Amino acid sequence: MRTQLYIDGQWVDGSGTLDVIDPSDDSVIAAVSTSGEKEHEAALAAADRASAGWAKVAPRVRGEILRKAFEIMVAEADQLAELISRENGKALPDAKGEVMYAAEFFRWFSEEAVRNAGDFRMAPSGDKRILVTHQPIGVSLLITPWNFPAGMATRKIGPAVAAGCTMILKPASETPLTALAIVDIMERAGLPAGVLNLIIPQEVGPAISTMLHDPRLKNLSFTGSTVVGKHLLHEAADNVIRCSMELGGNAPFVVLDDANIEEAVKGLMLAKMRNGGAACTAANRIYVARSIGDKFIAEFAKAMAAMTMGVGRNAGITLGASVSVKERNKIAELVEQAKSRGAKVHTGAITPDGPGAFYPATVLQVPKDDAILAQEVFGPVAPVVLFDTDEEALKLANETEYGLISYVYSEDLKRALRFAEGIEAGMVGINRGMLSDPAAPFGGVKQSGLGREGGFDGIHEFLQTKYIGVEI
Ligand code: NAP
Repeated sequence: MRTQLYIDGQWVDGSGTLDVIDPSDDSVIAAVSTSGEKEHEAALAAADRASAGWAKVAPRVRGEILRKAFEIMVAEADQLAELISRENGKALPDAKGEVMYAAEFFRWFSEEAVRNAGDFRMAPSGDKRILVTHQPIGVSLLITPWNFPAGMATRKIGPAVAAGCTMILKPASETPLTALAIVDIMERAGLPAGVLNLIIPQEVGPAISTMLHDPRLKNLSFTGSTVVGKHLLHEAADNVIRCSMELGGNAPFVVLDDANIEEAVKGLMLAKMRNGGAACTAANRIYVARSIGDKFIAEFAKAMAAMTMGVGRNAGITLGASVSVKERNKIAELVEQAKSRGAKVHTGAITPDGPGAFYPATVLQVPKDDAILAQEVFGPVAPVVLFDTDEEALKLANETEYGLISYVYSEDLKRALRFAEGIEAGMVGINRGMLSDPAAPFGGVKQSGLGREGGFDGIHEFLQTKYIGVEI
């Protein structure tokens, strides 16, 4: 297990340490090195020094490094999944799913590395030529959250390597071990020194602020909460740093009255419970047509009650711990408040005694204006609201400042498509409860973010367009 910082191709001790906790029993798994000003300067200097040379490395070579990283990651999937489960708490099937998803970003961008197409056109005047080319932006700061410690890192490292950018990776303080393991894979895959550096700041706010005000830094790729994202956008404004922001979500899951109930429940279990509900894509507001409401809620509550909660890495567990007791208590508090306002509990909603950050799969029935619907509940809690017409459902679904993802279930594709077109979200699943796919553009509208990761768009978060005009 790697526990040191990675700067300029070297594993180095930092100026302090941080304990990484197993949230399923509150034990300390490891102490990782933490970074201060000296290490941050070294990381930035290394990324800056490596930048020009790395941008000139043949795209095929960069692609092959990513391909190798994909192969190593798949070969070591079981160990990596176990590590993710230990430091994040999630159930092993979720952790394995994440490793394969994460590895696919390396494979996808190994293929995209050699497809950086430009454009050559005659100007309308006929006597000039318009040449358009896409060049690496340069030193990029990658900040990732704890909920998908592998997937959110490879979704940034993959396109940055493909584009020819150098990087400084700053993982969430709850889950640095997975990021360290991924950096180790990149090193073994042949990534040159200085291209990828990893820091774990003792004081994150001042450290990142200093970097965003340093002219050597050119790009910020952030995944995390909307509140931190907005703060970083302000910070990045001073030097007009390019920003890509993958922020919070509050996804509606809409079940129209002609939906196949069995399929919709299956889809909702994926949309709500993948990763124990700790996903930006998690269904957080479940709107069900009143005419099928009772049947749907009964079947959904049955499926939720059948989840097996326990230590994530143990066999048969389908719902692991939250990332920390603090995070679990936030979830429990939101449920208690909803109960005090009259929410009907269909299953769950009781905080278990004993160690670990556990919270059970919970189904609540709430009125359409309940406060729990206004925020992202980052856990296994599903508030259900009944509606009467498609128009009402669409209005309710759009009543949020977030716009990451939405889901709609209907057997009538025309009706579902009309719904999908009316919804304010960057992604919509029609009769699908899981959309994440390295080959598709992932991202939100409204306060869920700026830019797209994955698909053909993802590499462009690390490229800048140059127009070269030629007179002939
Ligand atoms: P968070 O609190 O915003 O933290 C995310 C990252 O930002 C962490 O590495 C954190 O470091 C860092 N950070 C915190 N304060 C900072 C500051 N002042 N300056 C610079 N960096 C700072 O989010 P989280 O709780 O880890 O993750 C959950 C959130 O991420 C949810 O809102 C979820 O929806 C969102 N998310 C979005 C997507 C997407 O693709 N749209 C994907 C996954 C998650 P420390 O850990 O050291 O505090």
